[in-house]
This record gives sequence, structure tokens and C-alpha cells, in this order.
Amino acid sequence: MSDCLFCKILKGEISSAKVYEDEYVYAFNDISPVAPFHVIVIPKIHIGSTDEINGENSVYIAKVFEAVAKIAKTEGLEKGYRVVNNCGEEGGQTVGHIHFHLLARRNLQWPPG
Ligand code: AMP
Ligand code: ZN
Repeated sequence: MSDCLFCKILKGEISSAKVYEDEYVYAFNDISPVAPFHVIVIPKIHIGSTDEINGENSVYIAKVFEAVAKIAKTEGLEKGYRVVNNCGEEGGQTVGHIHFHLLARRNLQWPPG
């Protein structure tokens, strides 16, 4: 997707602070963090949102969660963390490339606002 912000990050057209990368997944620091640790984890293919997950692309979502487990170990998040996916307008999604917020290093409230 030529006009997708996170595809541009994947292509290196917009800079990002890499935290993790493999064949399927890229993770980088959120530009506007809401927790002391706030990383965005994305698949390396354009999937618009959770609504677009299907049998052909779901391996990328599985790989996202494998990456989360690796990042949590590498970054020492043993006290816990939260993975958030915002989907659609009322879900609070602002970037149209599926992404997962990995939040940690503070007490996260439940339920969320
Ligand atoms: P969402 O509101 O769930 O769509 O999350 C989009 C996230 O992307 C927000 O937390 C933004 O701060 C983050 N974001 C937007 N632009 C960039 C960027 N250029 N680099 C890193 N994070 C970004
Ligand atoms: Zn994209």
C-alpha cells in the first residue's frame, strides 16, 4: 500500500527506532508512547485491520505473537505487559495497517477507558 504509514516504515521511507525484526514481523518504538515501554508490532504485509485477518494471512498474526513473546524476554518484561489491538473508528484505530501495541513498565488499569 503506497500511502500506508506503516508500509512506508517497512520500506524505510519513514524512519523508526527498531526493537525487533524477523522474516514476518517488524517492531519499533511508538512515536507518542503512553507507557514507559510502548512498542508497535506489525506484520510485514499490509493487512488493514483485524477485520481483514483470514486463512491466507493469519500466519503473520501468529508470528506477531511469537515476536511479542521474544521481545518480552529480551526486554525483561517479566513483571507483565499488555498487548492492544485497536480496530476501526470506535476501537480507536488511527493507522490503517494492523498493529499491536506492546505496553509495559507501569501499572496498566482495567477496564481501559
Ligand atoms: P492506533 O491509534 O491504534 O492506530 O495506533 C497508532 C499508533 O501509531 C499510535 O500510538 C501512534 O503514536 C503511532 N505512530 C504514528 N506514527 C508513528 C511513527 N511515525 N512512528 C512510530 N509510531 C507512530
Ligand atoms: Zn500497510
